[in-house]
Amino acid sequence: MDISDLAGRLSSGRLFHAYIVTGADAPAREQAAALIARAAVCSEDKNVPCGVCRDCVKARKGVHPDIETVRREEKVVNYPVDVMRSLRARAAAVPNEAKRGVHIVADADYMSPQAQNAMLKVLEEPPSHAVFVLLADNPQRLLETVRSRCETVYLTPEDAELDAGAAETAGNLLEAYLKRDALGLVRAVQPMDKLSKAELFDLMTALRRLARDRAAELGGERLEKLLKCVEKGDKMVFANLKGSVVSGHLVAELCEY
Ligand SMILES: [Zn+2]
Repeated sequence: MDISDLAGRLSSGRLFHAYIVTGADAPAREQAAALIARAAVCSEDKNVPCGVCRDCVKARKGVHPDIETVRREEKVVNYPVDVMRSLRARAAAVPNEAKRGVHIVADADYMSPQAQNAMLKVLEEPPSHAVFVLLADNPQRLLETVRSRCETVYLTPEDAELDAGAAETAGNLLEAYLKRDALGLVRAVQPMDKLSKAELFDLMTALRRLARDRAAELGGERLEKLLKCVEKGDKMVFANLKGSVVSGHLVAELCEY
């Protein structure tokens, strides 16, 4: 997904306790973390971040007392365990101003296993007012126990050129969905069996973009259904499921008789 997709998902105001932000480049990941932080502290309940409340304004200026970013000390390769222990203590405290406290960990894939286990303790029983955002170039370095407790946001650059084959498949799929053409849908997903993980991610991103472009034709209900289906598809790709399994999911969800 790109930043616009993430914004769409956060706007309901229902947030997860912990996110892993990966994909794209470091500045894009920081941008995504900032967006999650603003959504978390915004004083509105819906359409967050509103951009105008006191919390949003402070967050945008980078002076909100309830948003912190933990960074590695230069030259130190891994985070020492103490850094995570003190983060845990701060996360337990009630936020100063906002309804939630946001704790962003840059380069979270550079936490030592001990540091990750310290982090895990707080992820297992997160204080209701805390949101954690782990930024990771290589999430495979995070322990499975940590990953399983986080919602993963896999970023695609906003203007990224998508794989042509994946984009074409997405186009065919959307046409079949628009026409409620079950057989066309089955035919459209056939090339997915041969797509790599990166190409499958591109396919999901292309579907999101197409869905947004053609929102009016789809109508609210079918658009929402498609986006939910794509969101699950993303998760399946992230979990290394094969193209044939993901395509089966798309057909099962999107077929309408
Ligand atoms: Zn706000």
